Amino acid sequence: MGDNGDMTIKVGVFGAAGRMGRTVCGAVCADPQLHLVAAVDPYHQGLDLRSVTGVDCDLHMALDGDALADAGASVAVDFTVAAGARENLHWCAANGVHAVVGTTGLDEDDLHELAEIFTTSNCVVAPNFAIGAVLMMRFAELAAPWFPTAEIIELHHDQKVDAPSGTALLTAERMTGASVEWGEDPTVEHVLEGARGGRGSGGIPIHSVRLRGLIAHQEVLFGTTGQSLTIRHDSFDRSSYMPGVLLAIKAVVERPGLTVGLDAILGL
Ligand code: NAD
Repeated sequence: MGDNGDMTIKVGVFGAAGRMGRTVCGAVCADPQLHLVAAVDPYHQGLDLRSVTGVDCDLHMALDGDALADAGASVAVDFTVAAGARENLHWCAANGVHAVVGTTGLDEDDLHELAEIFTTSNCVVAPNFAIGAVLMMRFAELAAPWFPTAEIIELHHDQKVDAPSGTALLTAERMTGASVEWGEDPTVEHVLEGARGGRGSGGIPIHSVRLRGLIAHQEVLFGTTGQSLTIRHDSFDRSSYMPGVLLAIKAVVERPGLTVGLDAILGL
């Protein structure tokens, strides 16, 4: 909570000049329960936040965590790169600052370490802050035991360099965690190499579409005798992540240790 008796949460953003960081700065400034007190981006140090985000805020991009300490931030948000996030999170843990992390590329070893170092402050790491995507995965998990065949189609913009998406892989894992009974693929003749897509957990086919104009979309198709079920989620722009990020900033204060994913925060 803020000083001087006000109940706002003081927030600092790592990666503030980046695509996600800028959007987070804007969303934090627009939330009456939050107060943006520091913007950190070593590669854009000194840059005026107003000129970058268009947000009416007097901050300039700072070099490192000291800016959060000086401003008394109680929560840090990190949308940077994995190596930068590791450093920033060590700083947060050492300085008793809660952390909300969206940066991708942190592995199981990183998560173990975060669970160990966040003792005096808390940490939420979410690979996907879009609440609709989190629900899509949960719904897919619920449907899995009732449909013996399923395929995933993920669709993204034409700048994405990896395929399939982490969300598609995670969706397949969640589905096979909920059901072990999956039908055999009937295909014996692959006329075109890769026509049946890549194989996710449990052999669930994952098809990746890359198209200019798209942002981030996914369909999970389920089939059984006489019926099918399609679950679809669409992210139209980066604002889709903001309700999840704001929720996590408010929740992290109350959740001791490490929380991975938004599921628990959403009560799923
Ligand atoms: P970006 O390249 O636009 O922004 C990253 C910013 O971080 C840059 O401005 C860079 O200068 C800055 N940076 C690098 N190292 C830093 C450090 N040590 N400290 C502070 N700032 C540092 O990238 P982006 O599109 O904003 O994505 C950022 C990350 O967020 C990526 O890992 C991306 O995969 C992830 N992401 C996660 C979600 C989610 O829902 N979890 C959604 C979108 C993107």
